[in-house]
Amino acid sequence: MPGSRTLTHRRRNRVRGHPGTPVRPAASGRAAGVAAQSVVPRPAAPATGIHSRSAKRTPVTRTVDVAVLGGGVVGASIAHHLAGAGVSVALVERSSGTHRSATSNTAGQIRLHHSDPADAQLAALSFGTFENWGEKIGGDAGFRRTGFAFLVGERHTDILRDNVKVLTDLGVEAIVLTPAEFADRHPGLNLDGVAAVAYEPRSGYADPHRTRTAFLDQARGVTVLTSRSGGRLLWSGQRVSGVDTGAERVAAGEVVLAAGAWSGALLGEFAPPLRTKRVGLIVADAGDLPAREHLPMVIDDLTGTYFRPAFDHSVLFGVPLEGWDTEPDDANDPPERDREAAARARIDRRLPGLARAPRTSAAAAADGYTPDGRALIGRLFAGLYLATGFNGGGFKVAPSVGRAVAAELTGAGDQPELVPYRPDRFAAGREPVAPIPRYATM
Ligand SMILES: Cc1cc2nc3c(=O)[nH]c(=O)nc-3n(C[C@H](O)[C@H](O)[C@H](O)COP(=O)(O)OP(=O)(O)OC[C@H]3O[C@@H](n4cnc5c(N)ncnc54)[C@H](O)[C@@H]3O)c2cc1C
Repeated sequence: MPGSRTLTHRRRNRVRGHPGTPVRPAASGRAAGVAAQSVVPRPAAPATGIHSRSAKRTPVTRTVDVAVLGGGVVGASIAHHLAGAGVSVALVERSSGTHRSATSNTAGQIRLHHSDPADAQLAALSFGTFENWGEKIGGDAGFRRTGFAFLVGERHTDILRDNVKVLTDLGVEAIVLTPAEFADRHPGLNLDGVAAVAYEPRSGYADPHRTRTAFLDQARGVTVLTSRSGGRLLWSGQRVSGVDTGAERVAAGEVVLAAGAWSGALLGEFAPPLRTKRVGLIVADAGDLPAREHLPMVIDDLTGTYFRPAFDHSVLFGVPLEGWDTEPDDANDPPERDREAAARARIDRRLPGLARAPRTSAAAAADGYTPDGRALIGRLFAGLYLATGFNGGGFKVAPSVGRAVAAELTGAGDQPELVPYRPDRFAAGREPVAPIPRYATM
């Protein structure tokens, strides 16, 4: 249709000619230093637009440097840091979206111990922000220090020592304790079978709602656009040129896709390997638990469980679910009772009394998962940058991800901490990432 061609042409010119933008990739399709190789072949012919029909109907109403698609903690952090660099940002979210998100249902644990050194680095780079939130971001993320313990049996003590060394090399306070040394600090847990404990005295958890909100409230220049359907990618030829919110069309020099478990569907046939998985948690009254006074955050590799203290007299624990490939909008039902009972029985071994602690609330949501456990951060196509697929661990790394993505999009070049996460590692002909020694749980 001639009308739509004119519209597309005009839009492309508008985006490319956007005056004074500090976002470098708009004209060339490459951010300075950011890998531009696609993980899948780019569309062979000029795309008519994945969502071309809505593109024809809706007029362009707004032009920004960057549109961020998805307002979970990752999108909010990226928007915050971009705005801090003087970039005009529209953050697009579904009006009913945030309560369904992984961010709204997360356990909010901020620990540094990981089996993947790349993840440990992102967590370590984020930790100072959680500890000094008021100074670094402003407002309050509700960070509470509890101490964190990773418990392993004899089989995994070597990996544990190596992973603690990764952290100490990064300058993080982390030590290896014997079970007896750990019990001196945090009495009341049953440590049968535990051979070693990786301990972080300063780790803890934060309030997910306050964290996300603080990123946005403390940002200058982020326009939050909500609509019933959220956003769709707009294409001009072979590049992404903006977002269609259903109510308006936003032309953008760069779109950052940060839609968590919804990202794969938004990319359609162009998606790198990305699955969804539903994960759940329970909060219970800890009133009668002997360990409740000194309860740290714990991941127990032997029972495959985690738990932490929650607000007054409560304990929060994870419930493993059979949740692969769940449609993310169907992921929010509370964990099934039989799954909850199985998790309680396993944790009760470690935290005596948990099996009978009265349930006070429950939550579940989907997150995006990749085959190698690493997130997808970097350019997929010209005009489209991914920050998604956080494999059930994106909350704790959101500050450093936001800071580094903003740096790359404003021309600071490759940020070394993001290089292991490039989407093009899944491109045809590329060697898969070498397997990392892993625990039973992570
Ligand atoms: C039960 C549970 C426990 C967890 N525990 C921890 C933990 O202890 N520590 C930790 O670090 N991580 C944890 N995680 C993982 C962590 O919460 C996630 O990795 C992180 O919140 C992902 O953030 P995100 O912004 O990428 O995605 P999300 O928070 O899922 O946000 C994506 C957003 O995109 C929006 N969206 C979807 N479609 C569209 C569209 N078309 N247009 C616009 N917007 C759209 C959604 O509405 C949503 O708000 C846990 C997750 C769960 C579910």
